Amino acid sequence: MPRPTHAPTRTCVGCRAVCPASELVRLVRSGEGLVVSARSAGRGAWLHPRAECVRAAWKARAFSRAFRQTVNFTAADDLIAAVTAAAQPRP
Ligand SMILES: [Zn+2]
Repeated sequence: MPRPTHAPTRTCVGCRAVCPASELVRLVRSGEGLVVSARSAGRGAWLHPRAECVRAAWKARAFSRAFRQTVNFTAADDLIAAVTAAAQPRP
């Protein structure tokens, strides 16, 4: 019998682990790139706010798969910076 869960879970597109959504950041398409956004409507990709998960997703082209179209990036490092910054607790 499945245990009742209180938190929704999502799969990290980097390491493929299933985690509570609260542990992941959500990326959505914005023009030609990606932005971190928890609330925007539409298709999103969930990811741990860790450089290794960003890089793993990048290498596997997981973002293009998640958004069902080619996603152009400025640079992986920019995305890592955006993701890790979004995960910092707000002052
Ligand atoms: Zn991950």
